[in-house]
Amino acid sequence: MTPYNKPLPQIDPRQARFWQGLRERQIWLPTCANCAKVRFPATRFCGHCWSDESHWQRVPGGATLQAYATFHKAYWAGFAADVPYRVIQVRLDAGVSLFSNLVGPWPPALAQGARLKPFFDDVTPEVTLLKFCVDEANP
Ligand SMILES: [Zn+2]
Repeated sequence: MTPYNKPLPQIDPRQARFWQGLRERQIWLPTCANCAKVRFPATRFCGHCWSDESHWQRVPGGATLQAYATFHKAYWAGFAADVPYRVIQVRLDAGVSLFSNLVGPWPPALAQGARLKPFFDDVTPEVTLLKFCVDEANP
């Protein structure tokens, strides 16, 4: 097996439940105890009401494609074989946006608003990355 040579997340205790959830094929996000909005990444204070009280909640993985960019340069050596590659911005149905990658071939007609579903990519024995694929059942 080829060693994974792309950047890996530095998992601090505040983010640990999120990363553990990905290992379990689940998405867990901190949820504000005051206003019930989810946060990503996990932060001490809620960006909506500034409460520092929260609890972890499992959220659905459905998402919508918001935007994408095509990288024509490898900023890390591990991406050199992938150039050009796309980075997508998705909005989880739970209400937060994040950057990721689309798994599989890029559909020619893929556009903003496309429905996506999660793909849990075990890149190392310890780290699973949250990626997405087109949700053919819910276009
Ligand atoms: Zn809040």
